[in-house]
Amino acid sequence: EVADDQPVQNGLNLRSPICCIMGHVDAGKTKLLDCIRGTRVQEGEAGGITQQIGATYFPAENIRERTKELKANAKLNVPGLLVIDTPGHKSFTNLRSRGSSLCDIAVLVVDIMHGLEPQTIESLNFLKKGNTNFVIALNKVDRLYGWKTCRNAPIGKAIGQQSKDVMMEFNTRLTQIITQFKEQGLNTELYYKNKEMGDTYNIVPTSAISGEGIPDLLLLLVQWAPKTMIKRLTCSEKLQCTVLEVKVVEGHGTTIDVVLVNGMLHEGDRIVVCGMQGPVVTSIRALLTPHPMRELRVKGTYLHHKEIKVVQGIKIAAQGLQHAIAGTSLYVVGPNDDIEYIKESAMDDVNSVISRIDKSDEGVYVQASTLGSLEALLEFLNTRAVDVPVSDNLEEERKREAVEEAVFPCVLKIIPKYVFNTKDPIVLGVDVVEGIAKIGTPICVPGQKFVEIGRISSIINHHKQHVDHAESGQKVIITIIGSNAEEQKKMLGIHFHLADELVSKISRNSLYALRKHHLSVMSAEKRLLLRLRKLFKIL
Ligand code: GDP
Repeated sequence: EVADDQPVQNGLNLRSPICCIMGHVDAGKTKLLDCIRGTRVQEGEAGGITQQIGATYFPAENIRERTKELKANAKLNVPGLLVIDTPGHKSFTNLRSRGSSLCDIAVLVVDIMHGLEPQTIESLNFLKKGNTNFVIALNKVDRLYGWKTCRNAPIGKAIGQQSKDVMMEFNTRLTQIITQFKEQGLNTELYYKNKEMGDTYNIVPTSAISGEGIPDLLLLLVQWAPKTMIKRLTCSEKLQCTVLEVKVVEGHGTTIDVVLVNGMLHEGDRIVVCGMQGPVVTSIRALLTPHPMRELRVKGTYLHHKEIKVVQGIKIAAQGLQHAIAGTSLYVVGPNDDIEYIKESAMDDVNSVISRIDKSDEGVYVQASTLGSLEALLEFLNTRAVDVPVSDNLEEERKREAVEEAVFPCVLKIIPKYVFNTKDPIVLGVDVVEGIAKIGTPICVPGQKFVEIGRISSIINHHKQHVDHAESGQKVIITIIGSNAEEQKKMLGIHFHLADELVSKISRNSLYALRKHHLSVMSAEKRLLLRLRKLFKIL
């Protein structure tokens, strides 16, 4: 294949750059991504464009074809371009690869009718901070009054077709936007007038609707950009791989979606990923990619691979991935590697973020779904939230916890023919005999000893709807999840039996919480509470 050979011919061995799309909401990020994917994707991915896990891959051949009207298109030093499918800050700031951003280059989309907007500036700041190269797509040129459509044409050609009036409006808006960038400390210029590429950032006017300027944008990404980062893009044998997302997939359990930047992955490889409770060491059970043919792309069907190399989006199935953290690096343990060292390296990304937390007594409780969002949140709290009265937040938090602690009384009876799962999680049909069963209620089985089996995590009523509570007289399916290792071991048939009554676990604290928050308890429930108090010997 020409595309794969070319980089080596030029004496360079470069990998495909990884690109993400950023900008203010409504600037056209999604539309632009759709547009560069082109209709070819809808027509069955002719032209070699492949939809990967979390990303779209454009081989150099495809880009050469689409940019053939541009003189400079013959020389491409990279095999292709990988564009991350989630536009916005998320894909840029949340994804790290060995300490820096996973993305090699970004497209900063600016709406020509609106100029720089708050999230444009925010994106700019992320890019500056990460020292990331970028190209500005000055989008929606088709909205200039009187614009003559030149579908998918290079921007020079399209501009040549426009009237004087259109050009006047174009120039006025462009000048204003260049000034706005200057105010942010950046020199920018139309790319074909730019004599100082590198110091002055390139602007490409585009329309994501009619495609003008898209060839120019693509060519800049695969031709000019790599020149500025030869070192970063030089292929290496050393594995470089970033976790994009952690997802449960039917038939595969918890999987991770990764971007393989350098090196190779094999089925059976022993891997280490950064986890919520420390490093996760496991083995690759399956290496998966989507079906290349769109018609076969039924949810949950994937192609299995023995091994995979070069820049690609991949799904990995393995055991123990449920605690993996998105946005961090994945490591493979080689035969001569020191696993302890690798485990430490795997935790580096997280530790570098955690070490920045000021560990004083007072504070706020923060929770984030990925490392990148945690980092962004910490940044925000450090810079902007200094004036927030922390004790108010703490009080709110305490209140919320107390409400959670409040346990409503209930007595449940197992319906023997609706036992779906006997352990971890326990899933049962039950009759609510008395009281009220709520999500979050701790459940135990009274007897000689109280057997604690976990908390109600979901309730499904007879209409198959998920509900947050069920009242006496109702028959529902509940799921009970153990809150600790002890509870997770509890099994129907061993630790408790079909004939046993299940009751909500009442404690002094939970009673106190009920009372303190004046949570209304009906009189029947009051009587039940009294009975349960006796049962639990809380008088
Ligand atoms: P995002 O929030 O940045 O992802 O923006 P979208 O891609 O969702 O676009 C926002 C709106 O602008 C949508 O209604 C698009 O159809 C429209 N839009 C995007 N790009 C263009 C463009 O180049 N020209 C015109 N006329 N409309 C556009």
